[in-house]
Amino acid sequence: MLEVKDLTFRYPDTETTWRFTFQVDHGQCIALNGPSGSGKSTLLNLLAGFLTPESGSIHWEGRLLNELPPWDRPVTSLFQEHNLFEHLDVQTNIGLGMHPGLKLSAEQKQAISRGLASVGIAGFESRMPGDLSGGQRQRVALLRALLRDQPILLLDEPLTGLDAEARTQLRSLLLRHKAAGKVLVLASHDAEDRKILADKQLNL
Ligand code: ADP
Ligand code: MG
Repeated sequence: MLEVKDLTFRYPDTETTWRFTFQVDHGQCIALNGPSGSGKSTLLNLLAGFLTPESGSIHWEGRLLNELPPWDRPVTSLFQEHNLFEHLDVQTNIGLGMHPGLKLSAEQKQAISRGLASVGIAGFESRMPGDLSGGQRQRVALLRALLRDQPILLLDEPLTGLDAEARTQLRSLLLRHKAAGKVLVLASHDAEDRKILADKQLNL
């Protein structure tokens, strides 16, 4: 279980103190609800370890995560910028999430190829990010996050801007990961995404 208790945070030189409390079980998705500026990305960044809280706790399976650096947390993030390394091809961009070096095993390459097919861009292994559309880059970034195979997925507008077919395809992919026991923390403006994916809501 992911358990967040009285987690507080304030950006320097601002008035607002954010406070978050919630729990999510294995195989559940919590949707963060609120208009633009309500703190959804802030919360995701706190969970990922990119921001440091003033007080409160983040526990996973009873273990305190607060002090862990981002790379030691059992989380993987898909952020809105979906940053890809422009000088590395699609396979290597995805592989970097699975393995810190650039050397991939045959099994990892196979997993990437299967994954590319599952997100609707089969055969894109050697494409460069600069040659991809926005939607294709987003699929690569989502696949990289999913293949890292961490128990907690932090998703900031993962399906925003995709066409209807891609949305449907990627929603069912996320549902499969949920069914496999992952915890999803989802920020999405789309009410249908939230209805289909989320088991509980956190109003911010
Ligand atoms: P959301 O993702 O729900 O749109 P954010 O978490 O991005 O909201 O932002 C919440 C609030 O915090 C906004 O008012 C935003 O302007 C402010 N904020 C975000 N980043 C910073 C920052 N680095 N410094 C100061 N204020 C920030
Ligand atoms: Mg945001």
